[in-house]
Amino acid sequence: MAYCFISDLHLQEDKPYVTDAFLTFLDTTAKEAERLYILGDLFEVWIGDDLKSELSNEIKERFVLLKNRSTSIFAMHGNRDFLIGEKFCEETGVTLLDDPSKLELFGKDTLLMHGDLLCTKDVAYQEFRNTSRNPQWKKEFLDKPIEEREKITQELRTKSKKATSQKEDEIMDVSPDAVEEIMTTHDVKLLIHGHTHRPHVHSLKINEAPAQRIVLGDWDKSAWYIWMDDESCELKQFPIT
Ligand code: MN
Repeated sequence: MAYCFISDLHLQEDKPYVTDAFLTFLDTTAKEAERLYILGDLFEVWIGDDLKSELSNEIKERFVLLKNRSTSIFAMHGNRDFLIGEKFCEETGVTLLDDPSKLELFGKDTLLMHGDLLCTKDVAYQEFRNTSRNPQWKKEFLDKPIEEREKITQELRTKSKKATSQKEDEIMDVSPDAVEEIMTTHDVKLLIHGHTHRPHVHSLKINEAPAQRIVLGDWDKSAWYIWMDDESCELKQFPIT
């Protein structure tokens, strides 16, 4: 038995090589796992389950295939694709997970997150996150015509890119205090997340006991995943050409 974790693929029409690498990954590595956990930002942008594209159709079809081959797929919202909704899940058989989610995996209490909640120094972003995750905000946005949603998303993206370029490096990473607090609150010694695009295995102490924070990387030049079985939990990488 094994579980596989990925995040931050940022699938988009502009990067067909990432989509290709992902489809191959589904056919090979993911197929060998009983569970695939996608910890957010699978898509670069998602403005509603009603928007059909070649990319989204292909991914949906392949998820159904994978599920029928007995790999359960779990997904968490990222900051880019937090509007993935019930319809997408029904069409694909994907189970949506809350952020954070505490699960017992191979006997080990594990906390799964996208990671953006841990970037507490980015106050402006956390404010936007609060606003946009409100059910009323979501409903109002999703009720707008597709063209308008696309326009708003583009404007937000431009604003966000500009803001990001002005933010210091440290603001863009997780805050160690937030990590300690959430791991202590949930009483876990293992935290897996993505979002920061800083793949690494961090060793730390929680309540004086050794703990680990494993950060998944984004998919671009390389692909990153975690392979977990009853013996090990490893961060792995392979090149995308
Ligand atoms: Mn993210």
